[in-house]
Amino acid sequence: MSLHDNIESILVSEKEIAEIAERLGKQITEDYKGVERPILLGLLKGCVPFMSDLQKHIDLPIEIEYMDVSSYHGSITSSGDVKIRKDMNTSVSGRDILIAEDIVDTGKTLDTIVKLLTHRGAKSVEVVTLLDKPAGRVIPFTPKYIGVTIPKAFVVGYGLDYDELYRNIPYVGILKPEIYKK
Ligand code: 5GP
Repeated sequence: MSLHDNIESILVSEKEIAEIAERLGKQITEDYKGVERPILLGLLKGCVPFMSDLQKHIDLPIEIEYMDVSSYHGSITSSGDVKIRKDMNTSVSGRDILIAEDIVDTGKTLDTIVKLLTHRGAKSVEVVTLLDKPAGRVIPFTPKYIGVTIPKAFVVGYGLDYDELYRNIPYVGILKPEIYKK
């Protein structure tokens, strides 16, 4: 029995993800040239595999920070109640922040975090996401950098979990519905 047996289909392959990280990293390098010490802020835990690929392609002096925010709590629909479990270790006042996220679905998580960082005095706040699921939007939100737009399906892998599993799968796939209907 392998984790892969629970995946219905592969949506974004490992090779495609590598290409996305390179393309977005180069774009970010261009766009942030001349910006003093931008902060790449990862939202744990889902950001980790993609952010680690992406940051290698950003050829600039950036600082790396993390926040642990949650909204799912072991189900497949967002509760919309965004909790901060771990905050950043530095002040964002006057700083340029680029948030790295695995997926934008309802938009509630990023809407909350962008407003919070703006309220704390960040100079700019932008978002880079591996996946965008615009059909899931409840709050209008457009990330500046999007890896790939996906249909409204529940996906796992490459940082994305179901009940804390599947984050280590090296591609993004659609989970077999019988797994979460059990
Ligand atoms: P939003 O606040 O935009 O609804 O959701 C953002 C968070 O919800 C993501 O960081 C991710 O943790 C979770 N999420 C949204 N869609 C999916 C999905 O299809 N699969 C998984 N595993 N998590 C998702």
